[in-house]
Amino acid sequence: MAENALLKRLANGGNVLIAEGYLFEFERRGFLKAGAFVPEVVLEHPELVKSLSEEFVHAGSDVVLAFTYYGHREKLRVIGREGDLEKMNRLALDIAKGVATATGTLFAGNICNTTLYQRDNEATHVQVEAIFKEQIEWAVEAGVDFIVAETFTELAEAMLALKSIQKYGKGTPAVVTLASTGKAGTFEDVPFGEACRRLEEAGAAVVGLNCSRGPATMLPLIREVRAACKGPIACLPVPYRTTNDCPTFMSLVDSFSGEPAFPIDLPSHTCGRSEIRQFAQACKDIGVQYMGLCCGNASHYFREVAEVYQRSPPASRYSTDMSQHYMFGDRSRFSEYSTGAYRQAYVGTTGKT
Ligand SMILES: [Zn+2]
Repeated sequence: MAENALLKRLANGGNVLIAEGYLFEFERRGFLKAGAFVPEVVLEHPELVKSLSEEFVHAGSDVVLAFTYYGHREKLRVIGREGDLEKMNRLALDIAKGVATATGTLFAGNICNTTLYQRDNEATHVQVEAIFKEQIEWAVEAGVDFIVAETFTELAEAMLALKSIQKYGKGTPAVVTLASTGKAGTFEDVPFGEACRRLEEAGAAVVGLNCSRGPATMLPLIREVRAACKGPIACLPVPYRTTNDCPTFMSLVDSFSGEPAFPIDLPSHTCGRSEIRQFAQACKDIGVQYMGLCCGNASHYFREVAEVYQRSPPASRYSTDMSQHYMFGDRSRFSEYSTGAYRQAYVGTTGKT
């Protein structure tokens, strides 16, 4: 049997970059509804999903993740579209496979938090496993290189996802990541280092954290994970300015309205590109081998990550070069009129020392 493409990439300290954030991006563009957050765009506008997948590869993603996040039975039930479940999943997998094949990138399936799991209610465990099973089987049939199981606030649900991939996945590697609530550990209070170590010991190929926290509040947790685990670790924050007082993007408040910023007023808290670059550098320095961005990601952010990880994706052809700017640029190429008085008028300084 040929060596698995993901494991091959990660062997000997290699790294893998993964652009996520399809759900938020299509909501922002008006192709799916905030609230239920179901990837209906897969069925209504598959060409747009293909295009965004291509764009993420252009910006440096090594993986095309099938857009099946929240495309599971429970979420489709909420919007009355259970009948479209299989069609939606198979089409999302088909789109991702096509882009991955055309671009020579990895092809990944995706399962996630079911929103049904309750640790003391065994009936929900049966339901949750059934949800995982069908999505895993469709992904394996499509020929994925690996399966991402993500955004679990409870270790127990994450562990059930991993066990399901092992049970139904025919040997497909699993990348399992946890999302933090405001707590220092998982929802059932297992510290993140410990939780990830248990997932690693149970056989996950990559373990780590995704979603929920921005760079500032995810960094301390990912350091814990790095210290506790032996193998490759994953880090996929949301590009928002979370703080010690508001550690998750669900807890941020919009200063304009005084209301929770999640989800529609989150733009008031977005990170700058420099911040993403600095965070990616910190992750690279501590040895994060599987690096990405989650909800709120867009190509301008992802290119920063790719460049920090020493890639030169096609989008880097257009990386910022302010030396070409008529006011801020190289003074030998532009008139004193622009770099002097004009700049002075715009920004209050000529920038001359
Ligand atoms: Zn996310």
